[in-house]
Order: sequence, then C-alpha cells, then structure tokens
Amino acid sequence: MTDVYPPLKSTLSSGAALVFPTLKPAQIERVAAQGRVRQVRPGEVLIEAGEKNAPFFVIKTGQVEVVQPSGATEKPVALFLPGQFTGEISILFGRRILVRVRAKEAGEVIEIDREHLLKLVQTDSELSEIFMRAFILRRVELIAQEFGDVVVLGSGHSPGTLRIKEFLGRNGHPYSYIDLDSDAGTQDLLDHFHVAVNDVPVMICRGDVVLRNPTNEQIAECLGFNEAIDQTRLRDVVIVGAGPAGLAAAVYAASEGLDVLVLETNAPGGQAGSSSKIENYLGFPAGISGQELATRAYTQAQKFGAQLMITKGAKALKRDRNQYAIEIDHGSPVQARSVIIAVGAQYRKLPLENLSQFEGSGVYYAATFVESQLCAGEEVIVVGGGNSAGQAAVFLAQNANRVHLIFRSDELANSMSRYLIRRLAEISAIVLRPRTEITALEGGDHLERVRWRDNQADTFETHDIRHVFVMTGAIPNTQWLDGGVALDANGFIKTGPDLSPEDLTSAHWPLARPPHLLETSLPRVFAVGDVRGGSMKRLAAAVGEGSIAVAFVHQVLHE
Ligand SMILES: Cc1cc2nc3c(=O)[nH]c(=O)nc-3n(C[C@H](O)[C@H](O)[C@H](O)COP(=O)(O)OP(=O)(O)OC[C@H]3O[C@@H](n4cnc5c(N)ncnc54)[C@H](O)[C@@H]3O)c2cc1C
Repeated sequence: MTDVYPPLKSTLSSGAALVFPTLKPAQIERVAAQGRVRQVRPGEVLIEAGEKNAPFFVIKTGQVEVVQPSGATEKPVALFLPGQFTGEISILFGRRILVRVRAKEAGEVIEIDREHLLKLVQTDSELSEIFMRAFILRRVELIAQEFGDVVVLGSGHSPGTLRIKEFLGRNGHPYSYIDLDSDAGTQDLLDHFHVAVNDVPVMICRGDVVLRNPTNEQIAECLGFNEAIDQTRLRDVVIVGAGPAGLAAAVYAASEGLDVLVLETNAPGGQAGSSSKIENYLGFPAGISGQELATRAYTQAQKFGAQLMITKGAKALKRDRNQYAIEIDHGSPVQARSVIIAVGAQYRKLPLENLSQFEGSGVYYAATFVESQLCAGEEVIVVGGGNSAGQAAVFLAQNANRVHLIFRSDELANSMSRYLIRRLAEISAIVLRPRTEITALEGGDHLERVRWRDNQADTFETHDIRHVFVMTGAIPNTQWLDGGVALDANGFIKTGPDLSPEDLTSAHWPLARPPHLLETSLPRVFAVGDVRGGSMKRLAAAVGEGSIAVAFVHQVLHE
C-alpha cells in the first residue's frame, strides 16, 4: 500500500488502490524490458518540478517521495513504495512536470523514457489500463486539491478571471485560486509584485513568472503546453479543431499509425466540453460531463502518439502541389499531406449573464425526442423566427402543454417557410409572441422562471417555465478558410455528394475521381462534425464522422 501523505490521503475521491496501484512481479518484468534498472541515493532528485519530457519510474526497492516545491519549502504530495510507479498525465503529453520526485531511501528503480513508456501503453493492454487510470486519477486529485504550479489571483466580477479559470480547467491544468474580493491579505502579495488594480487577474506561473491579465496563448506558452511538439515536420494529417470530431479523428488516425497533429484555438473538447452532462452518448447510461469526455478523449489521442497544439488556431489553408500549409496564430505554417477540418460552429446565444448556468439544465440548442420527453405536459419557450425554430415548436407541441414561440421581428413571413407558418397557426398549443425577447433566467440547479419583454407594449412578464429552446442558428467557424473550399448558403462546408459539378469546376478539382464522402472541394481535405453542411449537430455524429474521415485519409495518402 502506498503511504499517501496528507492531504491527498484524507481526500482521495477514488480508491487509493486505483490511484496508487502496486504492480505484480510479472508486470514489473514487462516494464523492465522497456527501461533500465538503476540505483538511487537517499535525497536524489529523480525529476525536478518544471522538467520537460521527464522519465517514468517503477520502484523496485526503497521509497520515492513526491513533493510540491513552494518557495523555500515543500508540500508533501505522495510516497511510493516497491511495486508502485511515478507519473501523471503530464508525462504522456511531454509537458513540464508539476512536482518534484525524489528518492527517500536508497533503493533500486526502473527508469523508462517517455518514448518507451508510450510504446508500452500502446502495446501492453493490461499495463496501459493500470497506468492510464492512475495517471488520470492522479491529475484529477491534483486539480481537486489545487496542487500545481499556477496561482490565479482574480475577482468574480472580472471576465478575464472567468476566462483564465475556464482555460486552465478545460486544459486540465491544476491551479490555486485566490479571490481578491474576499482575501484582503493578498494586497501585500500584489504590492510585492508591483501589481496595479487594473492588472487583475494576475497569474503566477511556475512559482515566479507573473502574468498580468494574460491571454490564453501567453498562459499556454508559460506552462509549456506546446513545447514538446515538432512544428516543422510534414504530417500525414493535420486536424484543425479538437472538439469531439477532431479528437475522434486524432484517436483513429494515431492508433492506425498516422503521424497526426491537432491544432486547437482554445482547449480540447469543443462545444461538448461545455456541457455539464451529456446523456445520449452511447455507452454512458448515467451520463458524462463534456469535460470528462474531452479529457478521456484527449488522453486517448496522446496515448496513441497524436500531438495537440493549444492556442494555435488555423488562420489560413494554402495548397502547395501535393501538400498543404496551414498558417497558425504566432508560429510558422504547419505542413500536411492531408487535412481534416473539425472546427465546429458557434450557436448564437442569448445575451444573458447567467445563461451558462442553465445550459443543459433548462436551456437547450436542440429539440430531439430526449428533450421533448423532459418537458412532457409542461410549458416551454422556443426562441427564434427561422425554420428550425418553427420545426422545434411543432415538434415540441406534441408533448408540451404550451409552446411560446418568441421572436423579435413583427412577423415570421420573412424568415420562415409558409407551410411552417400555416402549421404553427393550426396548433392551438402554440402561442406566437412577436417583438418579444427574453430578459432574465432564474432558478437554482435547473431553470425555474423566465422573464420576457414585449417590446411593442413595453411590458415585462415572468412565467414559471423550466425549458427554453434557443433555435437562433449556428455560425460555422469557416471565416479562416476565406472561401478556399466550397461552402453552402449558410457558410457550412460542402462535402462529397453535396458538391455540385459547378462547385468542383470553380474549385479546379484536379482529380479524375469525384470527392470521397466527407471530402471537400480541395483534394485530401475533409470536413467533419458540426462545421460540415448537413451534419446532425450531435456529439455521436461528430465522433462518427471524425473516425470515418480517417478511413478516407488512408486512401488518399496512397493515391
Ligand atoms: C451546451 C451544449 C450542450 C450540448 N449537449 C449535447 C448533448 O447532450 N448531446 C449531443 O449529442 N450533442 C450535444 N451538443 C452538441 C455537440 O456538442 C456538438 O454537436 C459537438 O460538440 C460537435 O463537435 P465538433 O467537433 O464538430 O465541433 P465543436 O465541438 O464545436 O469543436 C470545434 C473545435 O474547433 C476549435 N476551433 C474553431 N476554430 C478553429 C480554428 N480556426 N483553428 C483551430 N481550432 C478551431 C474550437 O475551439 C473547438 O474546440 C451540445 C452543445 C452545446 C453547446
């Protein structure tokens, strides 16, 4: 058993045997075959905090301790005994290690470099399961207990603070948070670093670097998120976007031996990453949070050797004979033999401060059978004046007691098909509310009340309504393509059979064969997930498309 130091011991949310497993002798032998056995002296530092591409250790004899350096002092984190192993997720990513790992006693360890560790987890399924589970759970514990190399000093009133917390959280990076609104003593610390009020939020990165209201890119740079990545290599496939579609493509492509680089503007997980609970994804009957799904998918992609560059969004796609160059934010262009575009779309959102509190728990962007069951016999609101809003209202009226269709214009004639307007008029449960907009959402864990304003009468009403369907459209993230691939009327990317002969002629399609399914008007460039015209705007569909595209990538690379 690991003797876990406090505070980890007292608060481990998963069983210590899973977080700190002890390997069996046969398993240790398989590890030893990939590394070298070496002696360690008491006090010898095996990994220093901040080290990149750190090795991995299995303890044969003696004890190895893990501490978090904090100025001149150290906080104990964990203690490993014979049969146990060091490491957490940073080791797979090749990122800087968050803690110091040191021999507590003289003993013997097996040392493995990152490359051989990756080989081991790709080929030995039993060890892979043990290591991956422990690495993920250890990272979860580090996050939960705010062990890490980052301190954020911020205020609940500053949007910058929220952004930084979200960015670190969605990238799975542990941090400590000091709330300046409630922690008066922090002023001394700020004075010490000469931080003025308008520099807030402040981030202290890796103990000493002080960043004032940093951009996400500055944070990624300071924490070395992209350091282990070779940007100059020609890749078999570059995937643009690390939402569910891009991560699925990365897992399939890397596991099938392709050299994969993923470019992501913000953090892995995409829109799904912001969902508090996804209940309709296959294999998760109790639901799964978007963040957890994203972390698992990201780790899975890394396990197979895919690399992911954070805060390096694609800015342009250039074709150069048989390969592509993707220009990125602050960096040299990335070269690719094939490209998968998985940049998703952004739902138009209601301009309400507490909207995110109710997304998934009263505010929805899709009206499917699942959502319709949630509001059976209740009153609901559909927001929007287009066809998707009309269809949602008709569909929801089958189960709901009443459907308020709220839209800002005077009438629907300019934005909705006539047949739908007629259908809406025929259904007595549907109430049309023109020139109206929602002004407030109220509730606790779930939406309970909605306030709206009738702009013509200049009156406000508050209703006990628990379900709002926002059907105001989605904007595809295709601006960066600058018309380089054929788009449909709404700006989504056309692929495969949706590309007309005219599309292919104007794109100078150079091949005798027609585009494959999911292939765009540029050969060897695919589009998957929400950004693709006609896509289902569903997690499972995005994941499915990401994996299907990889089958075609193999074909085009052999052309
Ligand atoms: C709140 C919410 C809840 C949802 N709940 C469900 C649900 O319960 N079930 C379900 O089936 N679906 C749900 N959906 C829909 C589902 O999340 C999407 O269909 C899915 O995320 C689409 O995946 P994607 O990879 O195509 O795109 P996205 O998830 O949008 O990911 C695209 C990624 O590309 C990145 N990106 C954008 N531009 C660039 C660029 N130029 N360079 C690099 N990267 C870029 C973005 O930062 C993002 O990470 C929900 C959506 C939302 C918003």
